Amino acid sequence: QAKMAGRNTLCFYDPAMQAAVSASAALQSDLRQGLREGQFLLHYQPQVGRDGRMTGVEALLRWQHARRGLVRPAEFIAAAEEGGLILPLGQWALETACQQLAAWAHQPSTAGLSMAINVSVRQFRQPEFVDRVMATLNAAKVSPHKLKLELTESLFADDMDISIRKLARLKDLGVTLSLDDFGMGYSSLSCLKRLPLDQLKIDKSFVHDILRDPNDAAIARTIIALAQSLGLGVLAEGVETEAQRAFLAHHGCECYQGHLFCKPLPIEALQNFMAALPP
Ligand code: C2E
Ligand code: MG
Ligand code: MG
Ligand code: MG
Repeated sequence: QAKMAGRNTLCFYDPAMQAAVSASAALQSDLRQGLREGQFLLHYQPQVGRDGRMTGVEALLRWQHARRGLVRPAEFIAAAEEGGLILPLGQWALETACQQLAAWAHQPSTAGLSMAINVSVRQFRQPEFVDRVMATLNAAKVSPHKLKLELTESLFADDMDISIRKLARLKDLGVTLSLDDFGMGYSSLSCLKRLPLDQLKIDKSFVHDILRDPNDAAIARTIIALAQSLGLGVLAEGVETEAQRAFLAHHGCECYQGHLFCKPLPIEALQNFMAALPP
């Protein structure tokens, strides 16, 4: 192999790198097979309002792998992004989430729930992204008002005018726009101000130590204040204790998500969880 690269080419053979490359290739083909064979599923985690009532869910992708068991996104989303498989996978997640919304629309107890879905940069970058979302909503006969898209700050690195036009079209349709993991990326306030968003999501890394680390507490308070002054809603993710919730509520946070309320659940378990809620 090294010989074929030619006389003037230096070629280092690094076994560790070689192993990483083939592991990634194996993961890519595993992912492709998983998608073909229907190994992906969504778990749903409740989002609650100030009064503790459930307002909707966030859909979170899981991979039921034959040998590895249930695989979390941390282990495959990056690879799916890299290999481009995130496009069909993201579309599958969007369709599945919309079908779930359609099923909920038939029952009064679930008809008001919203569905948040994570959108990767690569998905959002597709020129036809907005049309796809619209077509998917139409096909499932779901109102755009039920759908919330969770975007990340990485879209700030793209052409802002193009991003803003897409967001504005989605917003005009009635889709809710939330900025996920806020504070983790490199958004500038001037960019933030230009985006027609509805909500900021405080990343769970700031919530985790909010009662112990004064810097995390300051960041969380600042994000809440920022959301308020920009006229946006704010949701804290990764809320695990009542003390964290109380602190966030005291500083004006409106919506919560985390293990304190409910872990992400498969659909049947979520239905049971909802059936047991007070009316
Ligand atoms: P995210 O969108 O920020 O989702 C929140 C993550 O926090 C989820 O991890 C959730 O299970 C976890 N979480 C929720 N409550 C708590 C809590 O109280 N404590 C702790 N420690 N963690 C909590 P998960 O499900 O492993 O997903 C990780 C990330 O993968 C997501 O972060 C999102 O960025 C990405 N992801 C998940 N599903 C999709 C998808 O369909 N498409 C794309 N593009 N990305 C997805
Ligand atoms: Mg999210
Ligand atoms: Mg998040
Ligand atoms: Mg996060």
